Amino acid sequence: MARNQPQPQAEREEVLECVQQNCPHCNKLMWNKYDNYRTVRTLSGVVRLRLKLRRCYNSKCERFGYVLRPEAEGKWALPQHEFGLDVMAGTSRSVAL
Ligand SMILES: [Zn+2]
Repeated sequence: MARNQPQPQAEREEVLECVQQNCPHCNKLMWNKYDNYRTVRTLSGVVRLRLKLRRCYNSKCERFGYVLRPEAEGKWALPQHEFGLDVMAGTSRSVAL
């Protein structure tokens, strides 16, 4: 169902970085390519996630150009969903802490 109202303003921002900073294939350091933003509604409020995306720049690597997203993103919400996992599960515990 399409949204008919603007998305609410975020109350706080969380920065998520990749735990694994080396390429899983060639084991060279992957640089932070760019930041991606995502807004998630949780039971504790609206949170803006700043995702630090990394990319392998070794042209000889099999995973050259692939983007690695922060691992912690998965505990906030499902891909392409704006409601957090705590909202979907109906629990009152915050996933951010
Ligand atoms: Zn690589």
